[in-house]
Parts: sequence; C-alpha cells; structure tokens
Amino acid sequence: MDGRNELTAWDRDHFFHPSTHMGMHARGETPTRVIRSGEGVYITDTNGKTSLDAFAGLYCVNVGYGRQKIADAIAEQAKNLAYYHAYVGHGTEASITLSKMIIDRAPEGMSKVYFGLSGSDANETNIKLIWYYNNVLGRPEKKKIISRWRGYHGSGVMTGSLTGLHLFHNAFDLPRAPVLHTEAPYYFRREDRSQTEEQFSQHCADKLEEMILAEGPDTIAAFIGEPILGTGGIVPPPAGYWEKIQAVLEKYDILLVADEVVTGFGRLGTMFGSDHYGMKPDLITIAKGLTSAYAPLSGVIVSDRMWQVLLQGSDKLGPIGHGWTYSAHPICAAAGVANLELIDELGLVENAGSTGAYFREQLAQAVGDHPHVGDVRGDGMIAAVEFVEDKDDRTFFDPARKIGPQVSAALLERGVIGRAMPQGDILGFAPPLCMTREETDIVVAAAASAIKSVFA
Ligand code: PLP
Repeated sequence: MDGRNELTAWDRDHFFHPSTHMGMHARGETPTRVIRSGEGVYITDTNGKTSLDAFAGLYCVNVGYGRQKIADAIAEQAKNLAYYHAYVGHGTEASITLSKMIIDRAPEGMSKVYFGLSGSDANETNIKLIWYYNNVLGRPEKKKIISRWRGYHGSGVMTGSLTGLHLFHNAFDLPRAPVLHTEAPYYFRREDRSQTEEQFSQHCADKLEEMILAEGPDTIAAFIGEPILGTGGIVPPPAGYWEKIQAVLEKYDILLVADEVVTGFGRLGTMFGSDHYGMKPDLITIAKGLTSAYAPLSGVIVSDRMWQVLLQGSDKLGPIGHGWTYSAHPICAAAGVANLELIDELGLVENAGSTGAYFREQLAQAVGDHPHVGDVRGDGMIAAVEFVEDKDDRTFFDPARKIGPQVSAALLERGVIGRAMPQGDILGFAPPLCMTREETDIVVAAAASAIKSVFA
C-alpha cells in the first residue's frame, strides 16, 4: 500500500467525520479527499489536484490560505507561552490586545468579549448569559429563546435546538425546550407571491408578535438571528426586516442576539453585519473570521447595557460559574491579532464589498436566465444560486434528485469548490475575502458550465 492508500484506509476505518453519511463513507462509496496545502484561494490535495476554494473552507478562511504573518504569530506565541488560563483575572498580552481590537471594531454600545473555541460554544455562552441576566433582574420566567426556521447556530444540545434545520434535529431528540422557531425571512420561498419585500417583512414581524403573545411576553427572553441566513440557504433579509423585527423585540423587552459567526469581520463588506443591516444587538456571536480559522477561537461580545446587569449578578452571587479551559487560548488569540491586522492591511473588508458585488453581478449575468435557476442572491462576498424545477410556477425539485449536490460535484470537476447547502437545491459561495476579479471570473465560468452540464 502506498502512503495515500494507507491514509484512505485509516480514514474509513477510524475517522468519525462530522456532517458525513457514515455508512457511505465507511463503505468507500464517497470519495476521501486528503488536503495537503493551501495558498491564497487555492487548496491542493495529496493527489496534486488543486481547487479554487470558493467557500473558504466553511466560510471561515477569510484572509485566504498560507498567510505567513499569522503562521509566525502562532509559532512565536507557542514558543513564548503556549498556554495559560484566563480564570480569576488572568490574561496574556495576546488575549487582552485582541479584546481591545474587537471592541474597537464592534458596533456601538459593545463593551466586553468572552472567548470560546467554536461558534456553537459561544452560542451556549449566550444562552447562559441570557438566563443569568433575567435571574439577576428577578424575572425567572423570562427564559424562552426564539430562533428561526433555517437559522444555523451550532450543533450542541442547546445550540442544535436553536438551529432550525431538520438534519440537525433528526434522531437527536432536538429541539429542546425552551427554544421556539419562527418564520424564516425567505422572500423567494414566501407563500403569498403577491407580497412585496416590505409586506413579507411585516408578515414575519407579525408572526413573531403572534408567537410572543401566545407564549406570554414575560416568558420570552431573547431572539437570535444571523444578519443574513447562512447555512439555511444564504438568504439576505428582505427590505425592512430587521427594523420591523427589532420594533417587536423592543415592545416586549426581548434581547437580540446577532449571530455573526459568518458575517463578523468583513464578509458583507462592513466589519459587522449588524452595522450593515441596522441591527442593535445585546449580544454578538463571533468565530470563523476572527482568526480566519488559522486557530479555533470564538467569542461573545456583550453590550454595556447587559454587562451592567451581569455585574450586579457577580456582586450578589460571586464569580460567574462559566468557563472553558481553553477560553482566550493565547495561541488562538495571537492568530486573531495577526488576522485582524492583516484584514486592515490588505483592505479586505472593502474588497469583500467591491469584488463581492462584481461576483454577484457576473453570476447573475452568467446563470440568471437559465430555465432552472430560480434565484441568484447574496450580499458582500457571499452568494447563492437556487434551482427550481419550474421557473414560472416556482416549483422545487424532489430532494431525492439531489440537484444541489450534483451541481457542486460538477463544479468540483471544473476545479472550483462551492457548497450544496443542506436544505433545498442551493449552490452556495463564500470565497475568501481576498478573491480577485480574475479569480471571480474563473468561479463564474465554472459555475455556468457546471449548471449547464447537470441540466443538459
Ligand atoms: N453560528 C453560525 C451562524 C454558523 O454559521 C456556525 C457554523 O457554521 C455556527 C454558529 C457554529 O459554529 P461552529 O461550527 O464553530 O460550532
């Protein structure tokens, strides 16, 4: 057996992969791809095949692959101090500096950063902080959290409950109380096709208010949403959506969590999605783009308004009983500092806005008229193409036909990685924020050719 075959065998025998068909993989019915290196927007596997990664890993390698500056920062930190904890007031130069850099970039009114390692654990922290906050305020009944169908907030027990995708609930006994799901802001899939975007946004806000009233406003603690729906289909909010939703939340004293795991640090052409859509969150979840995935790091950004209440809790109850061994891990924090510096030095937020707009225009021009393309959408450097069986009636394909996965496979054959989103026939793109116009043209040409081949 050569080295590659041996790895493939070990992989099938011993590696339990996330989000993978377990049986097909173990039986060798799906390909094993072993990735060896990356440079810019490209990755290369052990067979020497190179692909343009137009999904930036899992929308996380925002600065692109192979950045020496971040590798050096990680190595330097590992040599000087690989680890010290952050409990009982301890910190490192990297973790303290990174907190300051995040707050300097965050929307107005944000005050503190609590560090974790994944988007999922950061949302677990959010849930605990929300419950703690209402207990300190003497509102023990105000605990339910409203999320949206098609929202994605992680795959832990509580965060998997917040997630509104069936795949993440099936056979796991999720969702758990006290999580509720309201309407997805999915204009393209609206039932009443006569509605304008504003009318549909009002409909979503009305549905939310109905739910709050039916449950009792005194039982609803928070609403969580991604500024732009990500894993649920890459769906920008319809016009007026966040304004109308926030008006309802304010009326019933309900906290807003902006899950910016995908949108934080530039993806929409602004530092945060909250700024982009006029959201005024109490808590912001960050991960992926914080280190561009060079090391695992997440965070919860807490508003000053909420912080003032949490402080009262400590004065009553003592130290907060919440911490991970690896909170604010110095190696990850060093990667974060170098990554945020690089984003500024290379002007990547601006590039995400300008090249992202070019990408979506070119994509719409190249595939928008195809008889099975129902929608081309996105914002900043994130985009999606949704396929339909019949364009006029807007009927969707039987999921068993796996149109989305077929298109992403055809795209890969053409040397470009896009993602078949998990619910619906949707091809998603979220390239590194450093993608150039020339690289964009390669992605668009490959997408047009892949779509044509699947429907030929
Ligand atoms: N929140 C959002 C919006 C996400 O897109 C993701 C992951 O894709 C998560 C949370 C969960 O992050 P993680 O996979 O790091 O736990």
